[in-house]
Amino acid sequence: MGKAETAKTEWKSVRYDNDKGIWLGFPGLCKGCGLCIQKCPTKVIQWSNELGVYGTPRVEPRMEGCIVCGMCQMVCPDCAIRIEKKKVQQ
Ligand code: SF4
Ligand code: SF4
Repeated sequence: MGKAETAKTEWKSVRYDNDKGIWLGFPGLCKGCGLCIQKCPTKVIQWSNELGVYGTPRVEPRMEGCIVCGMCQMVCPDCAIRIEKKKVQQ
C-alpha cells in the first residue's frame, strides 16, 4: 500500500505559452536526448542553461515560433513534454 502511494510522484513542470497554446516541460523526466530538438518542424526547441534529471541540459522552447503541433510531446521517449492547445477565442 505504502509503496504504491510513494510511487505516485508529482513532477515539477516549467511552463511556457503563447497565444496558440501551452508548452509544459518536466525537467525531472528529461534525459537530454535531443530528439525533440531534432524533430520540431519549426526548430524552436533549444538547450537550456538549466539541467535536467541526469545532469544534462534540459530543453526549452522559443514560444514565439511554436505552432503547438505536439510533435515534441509525441517523440519524447520520457514524456517530459506536454502540449496543450488553447481554445480559439470567440
Ligand atoms: S509543439 Fe511543435 S512547434 Fe512547438 S516546440 Fe513542440 S514540436 Fe516545436
Ligand atoms: S525528447 Fe524528451 S528527454 Fe529528449 S531532450 Fe527532449 S524533452 Fe528531453
